[in-house]
Amino acid sequence: MSQSYPNLLAPLDLGFTTLKNRVLMGSMHTNLEETKDWNRVAEFYAERARGGVALMVTGGIAPNREGGVFPGAAGLFDETDIANHQIVTDRVHQAGGKIAMQILHAGRYAYGPECVGPSAVKSPISPFPPKELDEEGIEKQISDIVATAQRAKSAGYDGVEIMGSEGYFINQFLVTHTNKRSDRWGGSYENRMRLPVEIVRRARAAVGTDFIIIYRLSMIDLVPNGSTHEEVVQLAQAIEAAGATIINTGIGWHEARIPTIATSVPRAAFAWVTKKLMGKVSIPVITSNRINTPEVAEEVLADGCADMVSMARPFLADPHFVAKAAAGQGNTITPCIACNQACLDHTFGGKISSCLVNPRACYETELPITKTDAAKRVAVIGAGPAGLSTAMTAAQVGHDVTLFDQADKIGGQLNMAKQVPGKEEFWGLVDWFETMITETGVKTKLGQRVSAGDLTEFDAVVVATGVTPRDPEIPGQDSDKVCGYIDVLQGRVTAGDNVVVIGAGGIGFDVSEFLVHSNAATLETPDLTHWLKEWGVGDPEEFRGGLMAEGPQPAAPARNVTLLQRKAERPGKRLGKTTGWIHRSTLKMKGVKMIGGVNYEEITEEGLRVSHGEARENPSVIPADTIVLCAGQLSERSLADELIANGIEPHVIGGADVAVELDAKRAIDQGVRLALSL
Ligand code: NAP
Ligand code: SF4
Repeated sequence: MSQSYPNLLAPLDLGFTTLKNRVLMGSMHTNLEETKDWNRVAEFYAERARGGVALMVTGGIAPNREGGVFPGAAGLFDETDIANHQIVTDRVHQAGGKIAMQILHAGRYAYGPECVGPSAVKSPISPFPPKELDEEGIEKQISDIVATAQRAKSAGYDGVEIMGSEGYFINQFLVTHTNKRSDRWGGSYENRMRLPVEIVRRARAAVGTDFIIIYRLSMIDLVPNGSTHEEVVQLAQAIEAAGATIINTGIGWHEARIPTIATSVPRAAFAWVTKKLMGKVSIPVITSNRINTPEVAEEVLADGCADMVSMARPFLADPHFVAKAAAGQGNTITPCIACNQACLDHTFGGKISSCLVNPRACYETELPITKTDAAKRVAVIGAGPAGLSTAMTAAQVGHDVTLFDQADKIGGQLNMAKQVPGKEEFWGLVDWFETMITETGVKTKLGQRVSAGDLTEFDAVVVATGVTPRDPEIPGQDSDKVCGYIDVLQGRVTAGDNVVVIGAGGIGFDVSEFLVHSNAATLETPDLTHWLKEWGVGDPEEFRGGLMAEGPQPAAPARNVTLLQRKAERPGKRLGKTTGWIHRSTLKMKGVKMIGGVNYEEITEEGLRVSHGEARENPSVIPADTIVLCAGQLSERSLADELIANGIEPHVIGGADVAVELDAKRAIDQGVRLALSL
């Protein structure tokens, strides 16, 4: 047992089987199962089993067609499906792991006209009203779920997780928000919780005693008329009596307007919610949400918040999380920065999930790390995300890599992001790159500008010189009150009380977030009490569903900010699919005015003179002490051009390649793929 994480690495005896540590890989819908490439699915899970996690839960598997998250969602319906799933379970068992299959009935969240629910109440996040089930319909759903549990056992799974949270089918029966019935499935709480209890009871009877049944229970719904803590405890005790092995925590319905897993959510922000159940049931309880380092996980367990921790996205970022923690190499764990950019944004965009910091996630079979037998001398110029990932990966496969940057530290634009309140995780990401550059033996030459003449001795030259800010060429722009976003984020300029931000892309939003706070972000996780109050999250013992009666109570902004763009669309429309609403909401709560369809006429003594629309109507002056330019980026290609002129053909990647809508996801992905192909 490691000295560092005694609670995390302690085994857990479930009576009929023992889990080797306290880490569960939580369910993630990666869209991998839908590829029907079962070798690829098996390799994804086997890699994580090799990485030492005690128990994994698969992505949600539908018990029937009407319960699938979308038409064609993976299910476990027949003998062919069982044989396919057996490929996965066999491979996981060979790798020394354990795996449970999640049974997910989406209810009214199912994205299709066949969806069903307790009542015909449409969800705000789906266009399809559910069909209200009759008694026979409810019986069918229960028996389909139970039959799926039996089939999971036949397919070799070690258990199932019955998805009872996040606002899916079972959860929809529990609260009056969605259950308007007056028969034995609605009305009193005893009636509303009949469905989950019957499912667990019948599933246990069907699968026998030596099979894990995890029940994922919504401990704080974060929707109006959600469950009270008393109801949560009542349900948990009934679920235990019905035969569940473990209770896992669900936080918030998908339609909740409170962030639950994004970067800006403080680490382990909801462990206190699970802790309230401890001691009230005798089966193990798992906590979840924004636990992403072994230290945080250990602290949560040591604090008695739960018997186990669930981490999901951290296993996309690093399949070997547990093994590295156990080996005392926690600083080499690739950190999940909770950005959702390559995982959930992909899932909801119908693409296969991956990970911004680990593009090999879900691409294990396509992007193996194999040692090269033709080592090259590789120069990488630019130590931003593209250059860092190239250098590190190229060194991992055996190339002799030198990394150059004119700055005296690595990180590039990541050093900008980490100043932004809510993006504290970027500190850890830069630290991790620093560690990995050293660990993989990359030579660094920082604080010096290189020219083509310095690079003649290398077999391959990778130009990752990034971007330069675009000049928006606004009349009067040479005014003292105008500055660039880098000046602001690096603290070279302190903005006045009234600020106009020009450009509402990712950086315009980040800079606005920075400006409404009085301090830049630091390595420290944000204060939890303050965060809960800002979003109006209360104790479910006091407030139904955990929604404070007063609603969100944001602190006053540090200054007045107006965020502008020329496009006549809603500012922030193109931000991340699953996180854009959070950025828009936080700025709105801080009183930031967001205006689209603006023409920048002139910068004057008073501020910025603008007009609106193509006809340049309604001219006005927006008073401003400071005007910050966030007008996008242009590729920095001067070194690439110089190399070409000198007869050296470089590989150009990241922002130096294409600046438009550049982000760290594309940069890192390009870097890793290039490194593996050198
Ligand atoms: P962006 O997302 O492309 O946005 C550029 C903004 O500038 C747009 O609002 C655009 O809107 C405006 N603009 C473009 N040309 C202009 C011109 N000539 N005059 C005035 N305004 C102009 O670029 P970004 O905000 O620089 O972000 C770049 C990428 O970095 C994004 O994809 C983002 O995901 C990522 N990102 C990076 C960081 C970081 O700290 N490094 C942080 C967040 C996001 P109009 O054309 O409508 O005016
Ligand atoms: Fe974590 Fe972002 Fe990777 Fe998703 S894409 S696993 S949130 S780092």
